Amino acid sequence: MSKPSLYDFTLKELQEQVKPSFRAKQIFGWIYHQFVDDFSEMKNIPKTLQEELAQKFVVNPLKILKKEISSDGTIKYLLELQDGKTIEAVWLKMKEEQLDEEGVLTQEAKYTVCVSTQVGCKVGCAFCLTAKGGFTRDLTAGEIVGQVVTLKKDNDHKHNRKINIVYMGMGEPLDNLENLAHAIQVFQENEGLAISGKRQTVSTSGLSSKIDKLGAMDLGVHIAISLHAVDDELRTELIPMNKANNIQSIIDAVKRFPIDTRKRVMFEYLVIKNKNDDIASAKKLVKLLSGIKAKVNLIYFNPYPGSTYDRPLKEDMVAFQEYLVKHGLLCTIRDSKGIDISAACGQLKEKENKKDF
Ligand code: SAH
Ligand code: SF4
Repeated sequence: MSKPSLYDFTLKELQEQVKPSFRAKQIFGWIYHQFVDDFSEMKNIPKTLQEELAQKFVVNPLKILKKEISSDGTIKYLLELQDGKTIEAVWLKMKEEQLDEEGVLTQEAKYTVCVSTQVGCKVGCAFCLTAKGGFTRDLTAGEIVGQVVTLKKDNDHKHNRKINIVYMGMGEPLDNLENLAHAIQVFQENEGLAISGKRQTVSTSGLSSKIDKLGAMDLGVHIAISLHAVDDELRTELIPMNKANNIQSIIDAVKRFPIDTRKRVMFEYLVIKNKNDDIASAKKLVKLLSGIKAKVNLIYFNPYPGSTYDRPLKEDMVAFQEYLVKHGLLCTIRDSKGIDISAACGQLKEKENKKDF
């Protein structure tokens, strides 16, 4: 059995494990502010306690196996877990830093970390490479938190500089709700990374009852719905569990979800050539989302060797967007960050596996 990670604990939980309890705050400082991952480097912790901790816990359960750096600043990581399984996480530069005429920094660069929640995925979407490998296991809260700490450390991103987190890597976050919720709370700790719920977005393929459960936890997080289709027939082809969680059930769950009144619920719509890229679909989407404070994010389907779908034409994508905007919906086209590396989830891992054979 692998040892639990220190990232598995909220401050209160660590205080229950480590006595005297003020030591827990010191440890939080070392692991979340200094990014130390070796107990012997925790200088103000007595040697005996360092040894005791090292017997019971690890700090960081992750190791960087591979990095792909894109020309736009996106960095995709392949990370190894304690049991040798691998996952992906992505460091995304959302805004460039800005300097005034004198070269003084007026706006720091802004980053988002895209994290995985499972090794593989049970949902089995027809377009997704992660789905092809099946499901292996859930990630622990410590493994989810560890991705963010690892990427911050690797990019020398100081602890007090805020980032956003999107749960859009490998796996279905709501299928691992307990560990996800725990990780969200660990991220929020003021003595730790202090990343509020407002800065965290959970993307789901639409497990309606779990959307309600997440809402009831009142963690203050945003949700993004991977809608991808406007009629149940196509959606079931793309996402088989749509049979049990149809479009209407998702829309109803979204309407019940507690959202910050100034914010919008994001609907992700993967655009696939000749499948869902027509204006009739755009029209249905407008109708479906009426009454919801929504924002639509159109995503180009990203083909991979053996994929059965095609990338849509740019002109169809733009026409789709224009229709939505004309009818009052906020709509963006996801810029293909990291298109020259392995943009969509699961693609870096897949490349690595191929090399092994
Ligand atoms: N399981 C969750 C969150 C992670 S999926 C969900 O489905 O929402 C990661 C994201 O990658 C989703 O938005 C999904 O639509 C997108 N994705 C998967 N395969 C893709 C592909 N081939 N091209 C483009 N985006 C893809
Ligand atoms: Fe799982 Fe999301 Fe991929 Fe679907 S798109 S198989 S839910 S990771």
